[in-house]
Amino acid sequence: MGLSRRDFLKTAAVGSAALPLLGFSTERAYAEASELKIARTTETRSTCPYCAVSCGVIIHTIGDKSKNVTPQVVHVEGDPDHPINRGTLCPKGSSLMQDILNERRLLKPQVRRPGSDHWEDISWNQAFDEIAQKVKKTRDDTFIEKDAQGHTANRTPAIAWTGGCTDTNEFNYLVVKTMRSLGVTYLENQARV
Ligand code: SF4
Repeated sequence: MGLSRRDFLKTAAVGSAALPLLGFSTERAYAEASELKIARTTETRSTCPYCAVSCGVIIHTIGDKSKNVTPQVVHVEGDPDHPINRGTLCPKGSSLMQDILNERRLLKPQVRRPGSDHWEDISWNQAFDEIAQKVKKTRDDTFIEKDAQGHTANRTPAIAWTGGCTDTNEFNYLVVKTMRSLGVTYLENQARV
């Protein structure tokens, strides 16, 4: 039997109108259809890493936290409880998910050796070891105990520290303590957290 488009729409309209009469509740079906994608996510509060305004964000991750499940970020939004941005984000912050889920994102340490034309993957342990050795050598080679007038200086002008805007006050406190103990005087970060 052929069914015209008009007949089909009529039948569908009558059918859906008749569902409640037949004892079917359409409310649950509509509620299911409108469930938000963040309904079953884990919320993690963080800070937008892009600029010194340091807006608060909520990162929504899906996954049941089992050992063999890789959590998947499905949404990032402004944190309405954050005193700086109160839920708002600028266009850059609104695109934060593209920063998290990006095939070009660097997930491991790399080094480009002197004279080399390419970056080499190294382990975290190797990166820590090499950084520590270079910091020690640079400090020892450049340490100034007294300035030209004979005043005690105890500093190295060859090392600088720069931090990111997601660094907390506590982290920066430790950074300053550590860097000052090495004699590093050039410190800056954009953290206002
Ligand atoms: S959301 Fe925009 S204004 Fe806020 S910290 Fe990120 S880049 Fe800066």
